[in-house]
Order: sequence, then structure tokens, then C-alpha cells
Amino acid sequence: MTHAGSCHCGRIAFELDGDVTTAMECNCSMCRRKGALLAFFPREALRLTTPESDMATYRFNTHRIGHHFCPTCGIAPFGEGTDPRTGAQTAAVNVRCLPDVDLDALKINKFDGASL
Ligand SMILES: [Zn+2]
Repeated sequence: MTHAGSCHCGRIAFELDGDVTTAMECNCSMCRRKGALLAFFPREALRLTTPESDMATYRFNTHRIGHHFCPTCGIAPFGEGTDPRTGAQTAAVNVRCLPDVDLDALKINKFDGASL
């Protein structure tokens, strides 16, 4: 299944190949502020349809994850980084930015990122 995703104003837009049935709710210092619900995909499953240079990127702590956000509307549709176990490029998609996903139907897995 292909989902269309975007920030609020549309400056960041993408297509995502994959099924979204679960999402992770993390309590780390970043996620608790953003309120993101995350689902993880191989980076190749996500195709940006807007210029990469239109995204702003925030990094903190180990700087391994690029937390992308829109400099116009402030919404953060996804982040990307390397999975430390497999070395694979991974996209962490904020499923709240996929309008066709029924958030109430998702199984939410809590992740204790604050304890890392
Ligand atoms: Zn935007």
C-alpha cells in the first residue's frame, strides 16, 4: 500500500510504500514534546516529492538521527538515520502526517526512550 504524507503546508511531501498497522509512542525528550506516533520503514520505502533542501533538520544527543521538519509550518513528518544493529538506512515516519491512516485503528506500542 502506498500512503501520501506531508507536513501541514505541503512544503514537505512524500510517498511511503508499506502497511501502517502499529505505531510507536516514545517518551524521550524529543517525542514527548512533538507528540509523534512513529512507524519505521526502510529509507527506500519513502520517496520525497519535494526538494530535500526544503527540509530543516534537527540533531541532538548522538546526532545519529536527522529529525526533519518544515521551516514554514514547523511540522515534523519523518526522521532518518542508520539502524545501529543492521546498518540499514531507516525512516521513522510520523504517522500523524499520513492523512489516510486511521489513527484510532493502530496498535500503539509504548517505547521507553527516556531511559536510553
Ligand atoms: Zn510545512
